Amino acid sequence: MTVRTYLLPRSRPEALGLLDEHGPELLVMAGGTVAMPLINEGISLPEAVMGLRLAGLGGLERAGDELRIGATATLTQLLDQDAVPMLREAARNTASWSIRNMGTVGGNLFTPPPGGDVAVALLALDARVTLASTRGERVLPLADFLTGFMSTELAADELLVEISVPIPGEPTAYLKLGRKHASTPSVVTVAARLEWRGGRVTDARIALGAVGPHPIRAREAEQLLVGTRLDADAIAAAAVAAAQGCEPFTDGIATDWYRRRMAGLFVGRALEQLTPGAAGEGR
Ligand SMILES: Cc1cc2nc3c(=O)[nH]c(=O)nc-3n(C[C@H](O)[C@H](O)[C@H](O)COP(=O)(O)OP(=O)(O)OC[C@H]3O[C@@H](n4cnc5c(N)ncnc54)[C@H](O)[C@@H]3O)c2cc1C
Repeated sequence: MTVRTYLLPRSRPEALGLLDEHGPELLVMAGGTVAMPLINEGISLPEAVMGLRLAGLGGLERAGDELRIGATATLTQLLDQDAVPMLREAARNTASWSIRNMGTVGGNLFTPPPGGDVAVALLALDARVTLASTRGERVLPLADFLTGFMSTELAADELLVEISVPIPGEPTAYLKLGRKHASTPSVVTVAARLEWRGGRVTDARIALGAVGPHPIRAREAEQLLVGTRLDADAIAAAAVAAAQGCEPFTDGIATDWYRRRMAGLFVGRALEQLTPGAAGEGR
């Protein structure tokens, strides 16, 4: 069996109506960089596909202290904005130019590990996702949207339509380790954001990619940092907690043992970039 019907809605209501009409068998495709190879290789065999390219979900705009990213905004569009430097850095570290020109920010949230390099940054930034259906809209934290390996909170009749990101006031850090310098799958990806008052950390967000069933928060490491001055001991303790708390896996890129070791090392490096006086990204 092969694709018999290709639907190309010209608006969001039309897309939601078609999804409602065709039901869960309809394969939703944004940039197609993940979905299309699966069809070509016969791993995914949908009868009907709905492309989102013309559905009007591709905008990217700053609205007050938020960046609103349409689900089908491309990874290249993230490179062209300067409101959130961490997202530029994440896009720069994702795939190659050609894939970034087609692949979407929304699609990156559905990409199984070791993919999801932009999702890792969005998780550290406390992004929220808007899901829509003919029944209405709901908004939830990205942390609640990602539920397991290739599973999310998205209902069968819903589309991801927007991702909103609070623009951070403080510097952030984003590091990706791969086997090659560029266009490489992740061994581990780390995104970190801290808030400060009076020289002490008041809030910490550390997100990790490629060391779990989906991008995950290093919650114990985050808690250990709050109240500290981010000195060497605090960084070392957080790095150990992050390494212990993650759920790495073995694949053709790295072993679980190596991923865990690198998770600790790269959390430490990311936090060092955020120590007062360091020249981290976004300063
Ligand atoms: C050669 C190559 C290298 C890559 N390198 C990286 C990398 O370094 N890092 C990385 O993170 N990723 C990488 N990827 C994966 C991929 O390109 C990106 O994750 C991209 O962001 C996926 O977006 P897309 O729009 O192409 O997804 P699609 O293929 O269009 O969609 C995948 C699936 O996601 C779901 N989906 C997508 N959008 C929506 C929506 N709005 N609503 C509901 N469901 C939706 C659908 O179920 C769809 O079938 C790579 C891919 C390739 C082919």
